[in-house]
Amino acid sequence: MSSEVTGRAVDAETPLLTVEGLEKHYVEESFLGREHERVRAVDRVSFTVREGETLGLVGESGCGKSTVARTLLRLEEPTGGTVRFDGTPVESLSGAARREFRRRTGTVFQDPASSFDPRMTVGRSVAEPLRVQGVAEDRHRPVVTDLLERVGLEASDADRYPHEFSGGQKQRLALARALVTNPDLLVADEPVSALDVSVQASVLGLLDEVKDRFDLSMLLVTHDMGVVRQVCDRVAVMYLGELVEVAPTETLFRDPRHPYTRALLGAVPDPDPDPATRRETVELRGDVPDPSDPPGGCRFHTRCPEVVPPGSLDVEQSAFRAVMDLRVAVRSGRVDLETLRSRAAERADVTTAAVGVDRLASAVRERFGIPELSDEEAEACLAAALREVAAGEFEDASDRLAAQFTSPCETRSPPESEFGTGRVRCHLETE
Ligand code: SF4
Repeated sequence: MSSEVTGRAVDAETPLLTVEGLEKHYVEESFLGREHERVRAVDRVSFTVREGETLGLVGESGCGKSTVARTLLRLEEPTGGTVRFDGTPVESLSGAARREFRRRTGTVFQDPASSFDPRMTVGRSVAEPLRVQGVAEDRHRPVVTDLLERVGLEASDADRYPHEFSGGQKQRLALARALVTNPDLLVADEPVSALDVSVQASVLGLLDEVKDRFDLSMLLVTHDMGVVRQVCDRVAVMYLGELVEVAPTETLFRDPRHPYTRALLGAVPDPDPDPATRRETVELRGDVPDPSDPPGGCRFHTRCPEVVPPGSLDVEQSAFRAVMDLRVAVRSGRVDLETLRSRAAERADVTTAAVGVDRLASAVRERFGIPELSDEEAEACLAAALREVAAGEFEDASDRLAAQFTSPCETRSPPESEFGTGRVRCHLETE
């Protein structure tokens, strides 16, 4: 059965777009051809886009934000969850109702160069969605030329070909094409990241202006917090397939609650001249884990600068983080013993064969920046584990470290908690 999506019946109480528990999992084939890996690209993602607002969906490359955009537009089928557009579940739409949903959702993607057929005039390309909607050909030209002018191009550009336009102009053309069916929601996925820095601001300014002029709601997918600050009303932060914080932009920049948000913001230059109030720079170390095998508990615990030490342990948080870095490296077998052995030999002015287990264990400790721990029992455990690492007994070292240094962040998934008009998932908020 299909449901209708016609007209615009949203108000402040009914968001234009509601995403609830969205999931997108892929099953990847192993190199032997057996299906075995479930990649959890998107997990339990919920947010709304209200009428007239711009919501930024941010996170590092590979965090699943583009998959969220493609899934909610039904360019990919979700594994679970619900997407409501104007109150109607999108999965229930078919036929004319599905076409009407397409009409009401415009899209702009990252690479303007690949989104135009080089053999078609841009006028024909911009009019393509009208053709799909069955609008009579003789009505295309006035709509297209009007839109070209509104996005800062000229009506006569309709007769030119894509290669005659710069990257920034092509993105303006892509925007004109997204607007040609008079949509209510614009989904823009990294709309300026492929553009020269010198034209990014003007295209962003245009997006913002068009959003107001056409009375649109917008979902802006980006990795760039500077872009978010410039155009978004609210921000949803994603890490490894999950939402970790949602808040109004101003609140998020003033008082980021999630350590990952703090790290993202730490990478953005803060113009505040006062060192007392200037945002602290947070260095985010380590690789983003493999989404086919996400870490248990809080998925950010393998990199979180604020990961919580177990209550039984009397150690500084920074020392605990350093031990966690060692654990993550040992678990994945990524401790380069040969390089450390060579360095230790060079420093002691001996041959590599003369570097014993204790000297190599010290080099490993130094490599991970682990100080001597004040907790005697923990220090003894750590010293024994370091010797095991130096002897190449990674599995034993991993088990030993896990027994003493397991964080509550690894074993329990943080619940969602609300603050003001935002929400966050982090144990620091609840404990
Ligand atoms: S739950 Fe723990 S690991 Fe996750 S963000 Fe909070 S402090 Fe960091």
